[in-house]
Amino acid sequence: MKLEKCPCCLGEAELAELAVGNSEMWQVTCTSCGLSSELDDDKVFSAERWNKRLERSRLKMWVTLLAAFIPFLVVSAFLAGSFLGLRL
Ligand SMILES: [Zn+2]
Repeated sequence: MKLEKCPCCLGEAELAELAVGNSEMWQVTCTSCGLSSELDDDKVFSAERWNKRLERSRLKMWVTLLAAFIPFLVVSAFLAGSFLGLRL
């Protein structure tokens, strides 16, 4: 299973097996900044959850970009309107 890059620094992530008491737990950790996922006893689930973090951070980035872009669009439309002599 492929691990996506770290959502924080885009560093390489690795899946580590940890022994907690008598059970094996899995944790994904970034090799660059040390960001880690929560411990889970399911290896695949750990990896999936890690990968979703990057998706979410990408989504957040797009929402932020869009939110920054909307006022720009409004201002542009207003200026274009003024320039063309239109009154809203
Ligand atoms: Zn990182």
